[in-house]
Amino acid sequence: MNASPRPDDSPNAADPKNAADSSGGDDSNPNPDKAHRHFIRQAIDSDLASGRFDAVRTRFPPEPNGYLHIGHAKSICLNFGLAKDLGGTCNLRFDDTNPSKEDTEYVDSIQEDVRWLGFQWDNLHFASDYFEQLYQWAEKLVTDGHAYVCDLTAEQTREYRGTLTEAGRESPGRSNTPEENLDLLRRMKAGEFPDGAKTLRAKIDMANPNINLRDPVMYRIAHVPHHRTGDQWCIYPMYDWAHGQSDSIEKITFSICTLEFEHHRPLYDWYCDKLEIHHPRQIEFARLNITYTVMSKRKLLQLVQEKHVSGWDDPRMPTIVGLRRRGYTPESIRAFCADIGVAKFNSTIDVVRLENAVREHLNDVAPRRMAVLDPVKLTITNWDEHGSPVEMMSAVNNPGDESAGSREIPFSGSLWIERDDFKEEAPRKFFRLKKGGAVRLRAGYIVDCHDVVKDADGNVIEILCTYDPQTKSGEDTSGRKVKGTIHWVSCEHAAEVTVRNYDRLFSVENPDSVAEGKTFLDHLNPDSLSTTTAFVEPALREAKVGDRVQFERLGYYVVDQDSRDDEMVFNRIVGLRDTWAKIASKDGGGQANANSPANAKGKGKGQANCKGQGNGKGNNNDKGKKQS
Ligand code: ATP
Ligand code: MG
Repeated sequence: MNASPRPDDSPNAADPKNAADSSGGDDSNPNPDKAHRHFIRQAIDSDLASGRFDAVRTRFPPEPNGYLHIGHAKSICLNFGLAKDLGGTCNLRFDDTNPSKEDTEYVDSIQEDVRWLGFQWDNLHFASDYFEQLYQWAEKLVTDGHAYVCDLTAEQTREYRGTLTEAGRESPGRSNTPEENLDLLRRMKAGEFPDGAKTLRAKIDMANPNINLRDPVMYRIAHVPHHRTGDQWCIYPMYDWAHGQSDSIEKITFSICTLEFEHHRPLYDWYCDKLEIHHPRQIEFARLNITYTVMSKRKLLQLVQEKHVSGWDDPRMPTIVGLRRRGYTPESIRAFCADIGVAKFNSTIDVVRLENAVREHLNDVAPRRMAVLDPVKLTITNWDEHGSPVEMMSAVNNPGDESAGSREIPFSGSLWIERDDFKEEAPRKFFRLKKGGAVRLRAGYIVDCHDVVKDADGNVIEILCTYDPQTKSGEDTSGRKVKGTIHWVSCEHAAEVTVRNYDRLFSVENPDSVAEGKTFLDHLNPDSLSTTTAFVEPALREAKVGDRVQFERLGYYVVDQDSRDDEMVFNRIVGLRDTWAKIASKDGGGQANANSPANAKGKGKGQANCKGQGNGKGNNNDKGKKQS
């Protein structure tokens, strides 16, 4: 069937306000099918049912002027997801109309990111492949009297455009004849005029309430080489002149884009009408915004160029490469995109939901390992009774997945434990180790603390315990019950590694909201990265770059690409639970530096019972929870 001429019903007939399960504003997901029935899906269903279109053809159309971010992931999941669900096709098309800002580095990274997210395009296109066709169409509009060459400077053009309350003024070029315009356009193309000397403009309506229709520029002169067409062109199409027709050339049926394009839709319609070409249906949805981050490519580029971060792939960046290096899985990003749904109204999603998505996925798949980030020595004073200096302990790799098997960990009389798992004087509800108290060492024995050794300043430097031989995990015949379980590594066997504890890049929910004279950079979190040396169990020596593990009771970590044979580097992906929300709510929304182990532990009461927030599944992450 033919999609043109232009449909006369509203392109957004399936008004989300009327849609039964529109998610505008409400992102709760009572209906597991919701992800498949949002307002865009309903609009598509109805167009297929009515015969307006007979196929689903979508595209993801990035400008190659930066790296993709989590907002783009939403658009990718939507476009590729709809095509997949409905047996259609989805293209990847680079809208590469602005050579001065574009680069093949971005073209390559975008393709890699789309693939990493788990999608494969049906066709790969570039708007620059259509430059000749677009130019032919421009000549057609000129010949038909629908476009003219304008001599106004950029500044004059802006001035003549008018305002929201005031009509614009007509350019003198409007009264050129088609023959004059055609001659000028050809000379523009031939390179006779310098940059900025002339533009080609559509002849629409300088008084239109929609400013996009006040004779928009179609071509500008720019003597700049293009990363794909080289020096072939010195006039380049404006985005608005290229975007809609590129969709049309590809016979896209559903041209899905973000809300800011709503006011461009009448212009795209006008071009398709005048050119009498295939007419996609454009449907707009709300951009994804997330708390504690910025999403504009310009700002992300600024963070990189001014070295506030180490690069586009800095693990604190909301870019796909950044999230990947941080340790996020494609599955978790897709789950997040499905969870937040598609809405027609702008809103900001709590970053906790993104963090929960990766936490949930890694809870299922990440092997457990023991690591001590802030070590203090625990000496077992009766270890001589054991008979051998080292005992291999068996520990399960994933309590939720039997198939993950188990591993052996060396246990000895000299161990590292976390400094804040011990208190000399502890409150009643402190279920970890205290003087005169007992605790279970995970996958090991119950130990009783009888004394400590202190340095000259009174700091505890060694904790002295006895072990109870009857209490070996899995073979406990003692009948003893202790409330807490803590993790440990054997001093002699531990590997020393570097741990990068990443926190949020910005210390406020909305970094874009700034007081006068300030910029979003003033909201950078000075504590977004802290590096420590940690002791980890020997099995981690085998971990490869990109491997993700749970450091028991601490969080999820990934082996960073900076690792060397003699120095492994781990990035913290996410803590085991959302300490930030807890602390922030306690401080009245203040700027808590959560997610650092120092804060992740020891704050608040009832540590032994904390569960991963908002994750009904239980994360096996309860601090001090018994699991022996
Ligand atoms: P810029 O920041 O330069 O305006 P952009 O963020 O719109 O660029 P594009 O390369 O034009 O980036 O985006 C490609 C596609 O991704 C577009 O269809 C756009 O609507 C969509 N997209 C961009 N940002 C978001 C976002 N935050 N949420 C959802 N979709 C987005
Ligand atoms: Mg854009």
